[in-house]
Amino acid sequence: MKPIVVVGAGFAGSVVARELADSGQRVRIIERRPHIAGNAYDELDAHGILVHRYGPHIFHTNGARIFEWLSRFTDWRPYEHRVRAALNGILYPFPINLDTLNKLYGLELNEAGAAEYYEKVREPRARVLTSEDVVLNAVGRDLYEKFFLNYTRKQWGLDPSQLKAGVAARIPIRANTDDRYFTDEFQAMPLNGYTKMFETILDHPRISLELGVAFSKKDHGQNSSHVVYTGPIDAYFDYCFGNLPYRSLRFEHEHHSEVNKFQEVGTVNYPNEHAFTRITEFKHLTGQQHKGTSIVREYPTDIGEPYYPVPRAENESLYKLYQSLASKENNVTFVGRLAQYRYYNMDQVVGAALSAADQLLKKIQ
Ligand code: FAD
Ligand code: UDP
Repeated sequence: MKPIVVVGAGFAGSVVARELADSGQRVRIIERRPHIAGNAYDELDAHGILVHRYGPHIFHTNGARIFEWLSRFTDWRPYEHRVRAALNGILYPFPINLDTLNKLYGLELNEAGAAEYYEKVREPRARVLTSEDVVLNAVGRDLYEKFFLNYTRKQWGLDPSQLKAGVAARIPIRANTDDRYFTDEFQAMPLNGYTKMFETILDHPRISLELGVAFSKKDHGQNSSHVVYTGPIDAYFDYCFGNLPYRSLRFEHEHHSEVNKFQEVGTVNYPNEHAFTRITEFKHLTGQQHKGTSIVREYPTDIGEPYYPVPRAENESLYKLYQSLASKENNVTFVGRLAQYRYYNMDQVVGAALSAADQLLKKIQ
């Protein structure tokens, strides 16, 4: 019996591979990068600091089953991410909360007062369709222009009015003083990093791994009993309907040997200044004790690795064309952020991968 070929060793591919192997299947993973873990890849930099090569990855989920599944392969370090937004050199809590309002406008509101404030300044929308609608409907124009408009233009090269509501809806608006970025029940970082966790997930006698190898339908497809594909869906079909837009980033990593801490929280967003969107300092995320510190700046761009599907109606329509082809490929499973063209967080990819493995096993066993 030929093995199942899994294309990609990120969350989607690795979780499916492990589930299949645990159920007795032989799995051959093909990964075109020289490393495992996909975009969650982390490694020690030249200064001994654990950095995320493809930008900051903070794990959070409300899915107990997802957290339990990953907990088989790693211990955790509790971590709640905090973010500030820099406006004219002053740092404000972000997501916008009671303290943001009071600091920005010199007010002394309490929680009820903040809720009233939002009610007064919001621009109610009968239908909340776009990311512009989401924010204006919640907090009105001034906060929209200060915190969301330019950040979004930078990040996506699009106006918030051109993006689906779900993009800005990722960010809550708060009347209380909670300044955590996420409020999920489980918030933690893999104790020894993501790559180590992936090494354990993939450490199985029925899993073989080939790094630096790009998938070819001819070579790998024909030598498999089934393919699980986690790369970009348009690439699989040779872009027959045209390119699906993905947004990319250029990462500028920098080390500072003269200080132990560069900034007061894990991430500082720069909505209106600079070509980069945010600076992340890894030691906050990892808790690593080390001399010096390492940071990363993210510069959005259209050129380069596909990192973000771009949530717009027209892109959804194009994706649907590819999806209809995908549904006819009986021997191929498409799963993951690129293959499903969804703005998935890591936990959502794990969830999707567990379901995909389940379905595949039902079909073949
Ligand atoms: P990927 O990680 O992209 O893995 C796909 C793999 O397939 C890649 O390694 C690729 O090289 C390989 N591949 C593709 N095509 C081929 C081919 N033809 N042949 C061989 N191999 C191929 N999520 C969170 O939950 N929290 C966060 O804080 C967070 N921060 C993020 C920050 C950034 C800057 C980015 C870009 C993403 C962030 N995410 C975060 C999302 C997270 O990275 C993804 O949800 C997750 O990594 C997707 O896993 P995946 O396996 O679907 O895709
Ligand atoms: N956003 C914004 N200002 C910010 C942070 C986020 O306008 O300071 C918007 C922007 O459109 C961004 C989206 O909210 O793309 C989602 O932000 P998140 O931090 O979840 O993005 P990710 O971590 O996935 O890049």
